[in-house]
Amino acid sequence: MRKVRYEEMLPAEFLEAVEHMPAFIVPLGLLEWHADHLPLGQDGLKAHGICLRLAEKLDGGIVLPPVYFGRPGFSTYTGTMTFSEALVNLMLTELCQQLKKVGAKVIVLLVGHYGPAQEECIARAAKIIARENPDLTIIAHRECDGVTVDGEMPCDHAGLWETSMFMSMYPELAHMELLRDPPLEQKRYFNVPNDYYRESAEWKWSNDVRAASEELGRRAVEAIAGHMAGEVLEALNRQ
Ligand SMILES: [Zn+2]
Repeated sequence: MRKVRYEEMLPAEFLEAVEHMPAFIVPLGLLEWHADHLPLGQDGLKAHGICLRLAEKLDGGIVLPPVYFGRPGFSTYTGTMTFSEALVNLMLTELCQQLKKVGAKVIVLLVGHYGPAQEECIARAAKIIARENPDLTIIAHRECDGVTVDGEMPCDHAGLWETSMFMSMYPELAHMELLRDPPLEQKRYFNVPNDYYRESAEWKWSNDVRAASEELGRRAVEAIAGHMAGEVLEALNRQ
C-alpha cells in the first residue's frame, strides 16, 4: 500500500505523491462529548480513518492529520471545545491556500462532525474558496451524504452508526461496556462563548446504539469511501 499520511512523508515521497495524484484529503472533527463509551476525539478519528480508507481505494491522495477546530457542537457537554465562525472560516481558507501552494488540484474536506453551525460554516467557506480558485475542486460534505447502508444514511451522534464505524476502525478505543442510557451527567459548562444550541441536560439516542457492531461499521466505511472515491476520480478527470 502507498504511503498516504502527509505527516509521515519524506520530501521526495511527498513530491511523488502529489505528482501521482494531486488530491488532498482533510478529516474535519471536533473534540466533543460522545457519550460514555466513545472518546472525545471520535469525530476526527472517525473522519481520519475514513480518509485513509478513501486513499487506499484511490491508490493515492494525501491525507492530512485530523483537524479538531470546528463549530458547535454540544458546547456545554463534558470535554467539548468549539470555536467561532471567523476562526474556522479563516483556518479552512488558509489551509486550502497552503494546499494549493503545495500542489493540490482537488481538496476533500471530509466533515466528520456535523450540525448546522459546522455544516453551514464549511459550506460557506468552501463556496468562496472554490470561487476564488477556479483551478481547485473543493469537495466538502458530511461523510454520510449521498450514502445509504441498509436503507439508512449512516449519520448520528454517538449512536448506531458512529459507534459501529468507530468500533470497526479503533476497536481498542471503543468501550461498549461503559455505555449507559441515560449517560452520566454530561451538561456541565454554563455561559460558554458559543452556546449555539442551548442543549438539553437530557440525552436521547436517535437510534439503537446497542445494536452497533464492527461488521456494520465496516460496511458503512466501505460505502462512504467508495462513494467519495467516485467523486474524487471524477474531479481529477475534469482537471
Ligand atoms: Zn460525532
